[in-house]
Amino acid sequence: MFKRVLIANRGEIALRIIRACRELGIESVCVYSTADRDAPYLKDADEAICIGPGPAKESYLNISRIISAAEIANADAIHPGYGFLSERADFSEVCRDCKIEFIGPSPEAMGKLGDKVEAKRYAKAAKVPVFPGSEGAIEDPEEAVEVANEIGYPVIIKAAAGGGGRGMRICRNEATLRTNISKAQQEALAAFGNGAVFIEKFLEHARHVEVQVLGDKHGNAIHLWERDCSMQRRHQKIIEEAPGPGIDRKKIEKICESAARLVKSANYAGAATVEFLMDEKQNFYMLEVNTRVQVEHPVTEMITGVDIVQMSIRVAAGEPIPYKQKDIQIRGHAIECRINAEDPDRDFMPSAGVIDRYRAPGGLGVRIDSHVLAGYRVPPNYDSMIGKLICWADTREQAIERTSRALHEFEVGPIKTTIPLHARLMQNTDFRRGGVDIHYLERLLKG
Ligand code: ADP
Repeated sequence: MFKRVLIANRGEIALRIIRACRELGIESVCVYSTADRDAPYLKDADEAICIGPGPAKESYLNISRIISAAEIANADAIHPGYGFLSERADFSEVCRDCKIEFIGPSPEAMGKLGDKVEAKRYAKAAKVPVFPGSEGAIEDPEEAVEVANEIGYPVIIKAAAGGGGRGMRICRNEATLRTNISKAQQEALAAFGNGAVFIEKFLEHARHVEVQVLGDKHGNAIHLWERDCSMQRRHQKIIEEAPGPGIDRKKIEKICESAARLVKSANYAGAATVEFLMDEKQNFYMLEVNTRVQVEHPVTEMITGVDIVQMSIRVAAGEPIPYKQKDIQIRGHAIECRINAEDPDRDFMPSAGVIDRYRAPGGLGVRIDSHVLAGYRVPPNYDSMIGKLICWADTREQAIERTSRALHEFEVGPIKTTIPLHARLMQNTDFRRGGVDIHYLERLLKG
């Protein structure tokens, strides 16, 4: 097992990894930017090293500074968390060259599944259902039109290296498809350093259902069932839950098994998420594979009892997964609300500043994953998420009531947060019925 792990991240996920390390008897080293110098979780780590100023490019995205910090601290592994460098195969490779274990997939496995076009190829081979669409990257508008005529409009243009909901264009006819292809290629090149784009069928009414998978270095892979993350705004998830409400268990079991097969076929060690869209008839189409731990991993932990972050560390250290597939049973229901420092009444304007009032909820089945305390200053430099509320109960109805109750207790001020929006959504009859689609929240906010 590792002696010291460096955490190349910040905020709640840095704290989450510090906690996992401590429970495993591993020392943690946390890097931070000057914008995070007063972050309370730095005290929980065994060592904290400043790696540069606030802008991520000069700190959390700066590979040479992070590697230097790891060498100075004598860390034998690096956990990248999510975002920042977590999905960069070049970073995974630099770690390997420096003889520091990257806690995540090898650069090869990341190359196979992290690229959307490549992942689709592997998915087809592993019999994972994928969207009808182009076989590989699209070179010119003629090719795009040909594929679109075959699969029918609307279609969506996506970047092979895309992420964070950026670089996607929906085309409802040939004219828009023609004008959008080269624009999308240029945009992808500028945003992701890779101009490859592809097209697939666009689903009007879909739910986002994803499967948590774990692979190890001994050729084993298991799934930890699914999460429903359909409550989204601008392609960003707001609420996630597990298991997915109303989904045919026989169908989802097959999908989950296919996701585990895919990860195994890529010789993938670590935590991965295979994302799908599900149509009204509960047909599944793979969206992409996320080659890292995800923000919403706690709902899966709550229903399975498996510590996903600890598992990511243990498999990176070479341990085999200590579970068989049949050991992974679902117990109860869990819901996660992302608490963002944004004003839902003002078009989700970011609301940075000092938190004077802070009272976190508690009680049975209530979990808070957050780095925030009273007196904490939310820096304007990063993602607006300041924490996650995760509630577990025996049934979905009880989990909703518990979440509602916890939100009632949750007090954060004077900055604005998404807490009131979540409180409102817990009372929403469509959400309570289960199975809202991915555009539901935007329709609701407009109306
Ligand atoms: P990213 O990596 O940028 O998050 P994804 O491929 O995961 O991109 O897609 C993000 C979101 O975009 C999905 O959750 C869904 O809301 C929407 N989307 C993507 N592809 C399709 C599609 N073929 N049909 C309908 N919606 C889509």
